[in-house]
Amino acid sequence: MDAEKKIQGLREELQQHNYNYYVLDAPQISDYEFDMKLKELQELEEKYPEFEDVNSPTQRVGGAVTKNFATVVHENRMYSLSNSYSKEELEDWETRIRKIVEGKLQFVCELKYDGASISLTYEKGTLKKAVTRGDGFQGDDVTNNVRTIRSVPLKLKGDFPKKFDIRGEIVLPYEGFAKMNAERVEAGEEPYANPRNTASGSLKLQDSAEVAKRPLECLLYSITGNSTGIGSQFEGLEKARKWGFKVPEESELKDSIEEVLQYINYWDEHRHDLPYETDGVVVKVNDFHQQEELGHTAKSPRWAIAYKFKAEQESTKLNKITYQVGRTGAITPVANLDPVQLAGTVVKRASLHNADQIEKLDVREGDTVFVEKGGEIIPKIVGVDFTKRDPESNPTEYATHCPECNTALVRNEGEAQHYCPNVNGCPPQIIGRIQHYISRKAMDIEGLGGETVALLVNAELIENYADLYTLKKEDILPLERMAEKSAENLINGIEKSKEILFERVLFALGIRYVGETVAKKLAKHFKSIDALMAASEEELVNLDEIGERIAWSVVDFFKTEANSENVRRLKEYGVQLEISAEKLANQTNILEGSTFVISGVFQQVSRNELKKLIEDNGGKVSSSISSKTNYLVAGENMGPSKLAKAEKLGTNIISEADFFKMLE
Ligand code: AMP
Ligand code: ZN
Repeated sequence: MDAEKKIQGLREELQQHNYNYYVLDAPQISDYEFDMKLKELQELEEKYPEFEDVNSPTQRVGGAVTKNFATVVHENRMYSLSNSYSKEELEDWETRIRKIVEGKLQFVCELKYDGASISLTYEKGTLKKAVTRGDGFQGDDVTNNVRTIRSVPLKLKGDFPKKFDIRGEIVLPYEGFAKMNAERVEAGEEPYANPRNTASGSLKLQDSAEVAKRPLECLLYSITGNSTGIGSQFEGLEKARKWGFKVPEESELKDSIEEVLQYINYWDEHRHDLPYETDGVVVKVNDFHQQEELGHTAKSPRWAIAYKFKAEQESTKLNKITYQVGRTGAITPVANLDPVQLAGTVVKRASLHNADQIEKLDVREGDTVFVEKGGEIIPKIVGVDFTKRDPESNPTEYATHCPECNTALVRNEGEAQHYCPNVNGCPPQIIGRIQHYISRKAMDIEGLGGETVALLVNAELIENYADLYTLKKEDILPLERMAEKSAENLINGIEKSKEILFERVLFALGIRYVGETVAKKLAKHFKSIDALMAASEEELVNLDEIGERIAWSVVDFFKTEANSENVRRLKEYGVQLEISAEKLANQTNILEGSTFVISGVFQQVSRNELKKLIEDNGGKVSSSISSKTNYLVAGENMGPSKLAKAEKLGTNIISEADFFKMLE
């Protein structure tokens, strides 16, 4: 078939599936099938670069880097909204309107999404530009980043106007936000404060590939531009939905302020059922002629008003400030509260973040404090009710010593958090590090759970993760709840972890700021722990996406005697501390006479490295499968056409691991 046609067909198909998944929330094919089709398209686009298109579904993964965001003047100004907080204020608003316009009034009620506003320009049905609100007159061109947001259509469907702007809000739904934060905490990084700031911060990231990884969504709420043929706000929402935009279904058309108030009351109570944060309801006059008659004040349209929900805030007594020690030694102050009902849950504890926060708010034990629950999972203290303060109370003195091991705390310059430096003697750090080591994304040791780790440490059987490999069944059998079978499983699980790839071992070591992604990068670049340990800070900083903080942390980690000793022992026990391909890079003729085709993405080596390995060891690499092909090395996201052909021809399909076995 004609390549261009094939490419176009795949693009349309993928676009539709993307729409089903991200806008309708109703996928019709499995993620796997989707990935296969995407992979196929990628391969075709690689082969036929002349059909490149910035709006192809393959572009969603990002890659374009914006050093400076260009300033763009908004063709139609992006106004603010005036706010209201009560029934009376809403009724006053209606009275003012009635004095200006005649005839029947209808109101559109929409939720006020709490994120970053965005203006999208479409021409001939394709996304041309995405611009932030900025000061309302001009904003930043963030098109490269917005293109990666899956719910933003890159190509429209149906009967759309030639050119128009559409406005909306880019939000980070709670679930995705929580996941991002869990990953950061896992990497020993500070979690993000709230979804709104994280969403707007994401738009200004330089690397769009980073934006692509964030689960952002774009919710649209208004169409502007002349000759769109649209007569009312509600019609605009419906049309936009038809063209492929994500327009929340919660919007409703109302005939009176009474009805508007009912809508507000309903959502004030139910907004926590929504997957993203909202901070109010926006009420808009529906008819565009009426809107025009009403016009704007200096700052906001007269035809719209926001009704702000009251922040979910309660006051309660703070009984005690305690301090938690994380696996990296970071100290988090926690407010222990008189239990209070807030946003549908009972709150007993709230985070106080760090010493600066306590000082800024002047929070003291015994105070009555205001607790708020926003997008954060953990509620936070936002202030003190000073009218209720005991005049005898004294400012909080931040902990000077670790609550667990009594070591004097330290605080590095420029960091908000205090740390317990007793890395190898502080129980929660010892236990936390081993728990991290065995966790699913790290060494994934079956048969060993977090609680057992604590038991083993408390029984003084282990002190660090290297000790795991010296455990014997007899040692652990006496432990509570440890049966013969579970002891065996544990030992086997530990043994099996010696097969875990280097990049995951590197993540498992628990170097602060070295999360999964960074670990992968470092493993791919350095290929062995020895090379990484020999790297200087400058060398590390010179790598893509490795900042000073990470570089410092890596060097500091290996400088610590206990850590390098652990690494030495892990090596001795046979844990993978290098990419095995490296060992085999020297030339042999093991593969002589065999022809290989490779497809997909590989874990241990890049495609080029794999090619080189095959050739260095006497094999031949070919780009397409034929009857002469002996092996298809299948990576992740392998092209479906290659797979089908290999199956048809009965080619040996082998995994990356199988391949390395062949070399041994
Ligand atoms: P404010 O920033 O408080 O003046 O409110 C105006 C902002 O509310 C707009 O710039 C939008 O980003 C945001 N907003 C969220 N949801 C809506 C909506 N449904 N209609 C209009 N604006 C909205
Ligand atoms: Zn300690």
